[in-house]
Amino acid sequence: MKKKLIAILGIMLIIVIGTAFVTAATRKEARDEEKLTIVTSFYPMYILAKNLTQGTNVDVVNLTEYKTGCLHDYQLTTSDMKKLENADIFIMNGGGMESFMEDILKSYPNLPIINASEDITFLTAEEHHHEEVETEDSHEGETEDHHEGEEYNAHVWLNMDYYLKEIKNVQEGLAKLDLENAKTYEENGTEYSSKIETLKNELETTLDDVKEKKIVIFHDSFAYLAQELGLEVIHTVNLDGETALSAGDIAEVIDEVKEHQVKVLFTEEQYSTSIAENIASETGAKVYVVDSLVTGDMDNDSYLNGMRQNMDVLKQALLNQ
Ligand SMILES: [Zn+2]
Repeated sequence: MKKKLIAILGIMLIIVIGTAFVTAATRKEARDEEKLTIVTSFYPMYILAKNLTQGTNVDVVNLTEYKTGCLHDYQLTTSDMKKLENADIFIMNGGGMESFMEDILKSYPNLPIINASEDITFLTAEEHHHEEVETEDSHEGETEDHHEGEEYNAHVWLNMDYYLKEIKNVQEGLAKLDLENAKTYEENGTEYSSKIETLKNELETTLDDVKEKKIVIFHDSFAYLAQELGLEVIHTVNLDGETALSAGDIAEVIDEVKEHQVKVLFTEEQYSTSIAENIASETGAKVYVVDSLVTGDMDNDSYLNGMRQNMDVLKQALLNQ
């Protein structure tokens, strides 16, 4: 009796598993036939691709969770890997932002990759600020780097000129790979670029008087915003890496803030603001929270809204000094 029951249960189990396999396979086939799936590496690329694919039936999937933020030291999860398996096109920022998945991408030799930052000249990661400090203060032999293994500062999207270039690169890349929608990509690209351009002009006009103002930044990304506005970055405290700051590191920043009479510290919500608060309380500088635009609510206007908010913060921080 017992044996019979086990046998029946066994057969039922096989049927259930079998059906599940078959449905999953048909579902995948059906989906693959009608829809193109674009996988983006992280949030800024996702928002860019969403804007370009508006009005098409192309699926845009973000590889990482939208709350992940910057991908430094990121490790892919099994669910990320599944998304990659279904990808027809992969869009990445480049400049080392996706260096954690170089080997994985090699195992998909047939997956077309669009590199959004192609032909953009990167700032080097962090060191260039140190060089500046070194010549002024002769801090010789000071070559510490919290951002080990990353040669370039990949956060180019925070300079709106470069973001416009990224839009163009992705738009052209998509048009080549998906001829059917090429015209739509072009129209969407033109429309999105013109919105960015308008905001860029507004930002640069509003903040025309802030050139050469001295700031300390708590994420490498703000170096691009500073580059666009002509701000002088006195020091970069990099909270992107895994290395925690020592008391000595913090003391060094406090010295520089005092010496250069820096009034403004730009930090962000992605990381804890406590170090910045600490430095502020020791120096009288003020902490302002800027958004690197690497997380958000998945809204297509996420970049535009975030940058507009940044403009307000920058006005507050820099125009009333
Ligand atoms: Zn970052």
